[in-house]
Amino acid sequence: MRRDLLGRIQKVFLLVSILLILVIGVLAAQDAGLPWATGESLAGLLPSAPKPPHIVLISGHKGNDSGAVCTDAAGTVTVEEADVNAAVAERVAGLLRQKGDEVDIFDEFDERLQGLMADVLVSLHADSCVAYSGYKAAHRDNAPSAADSLLLACMDERYPAATGLVYHPDTITQDMIDYHVFRKIDRSTPALILEMGFLGGDGRLLTEGADTVAQGVADGISCFLTASSPERTPAAP
Ligand SMILES: [Zn+2]
Repeated sequence: MRRDLLGRIQKVFLLVSILLILVIGVLAAQDAGLPWATGESLAGLLPSAPKPPHIVLISGHKGNDSGAVCTDAAGTVTVEEADVNAAVAERVAGLLRQKGDEVDIFDEFDERLQGLMADVLVSLHADSCVAYSGYKAAHRDNAPSAADSLLLACMDERYPAATGLVYHPDTITQDMIDYHVFRKIDRSTPALILEMGFLGGDGRLLTEGADTVAQGVADGISCFLTASSPERTPAAP
């Protein structure tokens, strides 16, 4: 009985000794400033900034064709869609890069589209030379994800707010919803094709007002990135 008690006391002593040695060790390490021992410096070991979102813009028709081509009464070319798309894409990229986002501008049939995994993809196009006015946006028709729907909702809220253009739903074509890019990229990449306006009725806004158009596109993308990642703080007004 007594032997049993002694044995237990010995065990307790051994445990207390081990604990003491551990505590002394940690205290000594803190003194020496070793990072694992101090709570604050642990944060310093983790990556300080989250990876910036990767945004892909497609400059519609770039590297392939000129898209819609408008001419005046004399038959002289006044504006080509691909030029309008490229000018806006450059401006959108500039606005988003200012926020620290990583932005790539792709050609219409860019090889990098195959299996692309990005945080967001927006393809920029402009509509024909007819005298209509309005924009329209579409995501993949085939089983769109929640992220696709969120991106579309953000664009439908922010793009008209910035540009003053109305939604023009009647002219969403099969080419838009069955867009070749939707079939190439990875399904996890939220994607959208945007017809920014008509070269006819909105020609002036699309050319002289390219900064305003770009702001609308950038706002739509930033809205989506903020809504889909809660740790990303909204931009200061
Ligand atoms: Zn186009």
